[in-house]
Amino acid sequence: MTKQTKHIFVTGGVVSSLGKGLTSASIGTILERRGLKVRMQKLDPYINVDPGTMSPFQHGEVYVLDDGAETDLDLGHYERFTNSPLTRDSNYTSGRIYSKVIQKERDGKYLGKTVQVVPHITDEIKAAVRGLGGPDVDVVITELGGTVGDIEGLPFFEAIRQLPLDIGRENCLFIHLTLVPYLKAAKELKTKPTQHSVQQLRQIGIQPDILIVRTERDLGQENADKIALFCNLEKRAVIVEKDKEFSIYEVPSGLVEYGLDKLILEKLHLPEGPSDMDDWDDLVHRIKNPVHDVNIAVVGKYIEHRDAYKSIYEALDHAGFSHSTRVIVKRIEAESLESQEAASILAGIDGLLVPGGFGHRGIEGKIQAVRYAREHKIPYFGICLGMQVAVIEYGRHVVGLDDANSTEFDAATPHPVICLLEEQRTVEKKGASMRLGAQPCVLTEGSLMASIYEAREISERHRHRYEFNPDYRERFEKGGMLLSGNSPSGKLVEAIELPAHPWFAAVQFHPEFKSKPNQPHPLFKSFINAALKRHQERV
Ligand code: GLN
Repeated sequence: MTKQTKHIFVTGGVVSSLGKGLTSASIGTILERRGLKVRMQKLDPYINVDPGTMSPFQHGEVYVLDDGAETDLDLGHYERFTNSPLTRDSNYTSGRIYSKVIQKERDGKYLGKTVQVVPHITDEIKAAVRGLGGPDVDVVITELGGTVGDIEGLPFFEAIRQLPLDIGRENCLFIHLTLVPYLKAAKELKTKPTQHSVQQLRQIGIQPDILIVRTERDLGQENADKIALFCNLEKRAVIVEKDKEFSIYEVPSGLVEYGLDKLILEKLHLPEGPSDMDDWDDLVHRIKNPVHDVNIAVVGKYIEHRDAYKSIYEALDHAGFSHSTRVIVKRIEAESLESQEAASILAGIDGLLVPGGFGHRGIEGKIQAVRYAREHKIPYFGICLGMQVAVIEYGRHVVGLDDANSTEFDAATPHPVICLLEEQRTVEKKGASMRLGAQPCVLTEGSLMASIYEAREISERHRHRYEFNPDYRERFEKGGMLLSGNSPSGKLVEAIELPAHPWFAAVQFHPEFKSKPNQPHPLFKSFINAALKRHQERV
């Protein structure tokens, strides 16, 4: 008999933005440290087929996988916290599920039946969940987006309610995450919203096995016992996840302290291997005890919205961890650099990073920022759009190409140093139509890039339409820019650097997606190292 993969479902209640993604990822971390093979998955009830067409302001960053899937940012947590391979099948939305069912209906696959939410949509959802299981997978952790009671989430809750009937209740575990708010006026923690949330879950036929409650303050035994009684749970199945003081990376250790890993193994009838959290505990120790500080400016368009550049901030932190350094990020609205002197905004920084982006708003401000970093020998790291603005800046101010620009921002520019190449010119559809996913890149021998990666051939993830215009290659090279990363055909420029500058590097791809807290990305690590040097020279 083949082994039955176990399924854990993580649902949320009371409020959104509870950190369900982080908690699910942390469950992955602690189960992997019990020797289990884990797969992570997110189900998003919204209608968009994928988040690729959503504004970062609405939905935070779009996280890109090797296979080119544009996914929810929670998959970034999964990749940072676990070793679960992630593919297109790790993220399903209502839009994708419905598209599949509608296509089957058009193809006549339902043999004349009336096609309905139950069972056709729910069957498709169950297939998406079970599809991640297999003989080499011990546990699939599926996170349900949204909050219990949302109208659009109902088919998903119904599907996971049915699953135990198909594969056995002993192979399924329901974990529900809620908030116990503290009311200042009453000086009390309130458990009622949690009770109501579980009631709602039970109304649709799901009795949670474990409840994880988020709180700002200590819950106390009395409150925990009350929650257990009213939610029909064993007392030990109420786990507290108190807000962490230093870092999100403390969450897994906190859950282990509460015995969550042991409880999950027991409830899923899995053998109890030893727990080995040493590497993680060591990471948390380093995070809590930094020796240096470094100031990094990030100049972007959605600066007030932290999630818009989620993986960038995480990757900066990871690089800091490896240098025992606290990375202090100064988030700067690009447009502010259009009306104020760059010096007044950027004085005192040790490094500048311009992340990816779309549309012309704030572009001139980003160009000002890059110019300031280049001229003042401040380490500069450009990512995607950050490489494109560095090329425009260098073209205008060093190579002598007046009004150089990207055709994304000025279609009539006399010097289209960044432009659309043939493959993208004919594209009209917006969804999943960019240059996406892992692409190979060859690094120039002797370059900063090659020394950082300690390799000549690398693979990194992309998400963009515009490219360095090959007609300008020679002029930039003569002007002192090294085009140090190229596609294997030699046609596309993937990385640039300025050998005359202490640390000036920019890439067309997104290295931030592959950084992990205990394996920082080499580019971020080297950038923070350069910034640290500058900091030490400065103060
Ligand atoms: N807007 C630019 C392009 O499409 C850059 C994209 C990005 O930074 N992700 O090429």
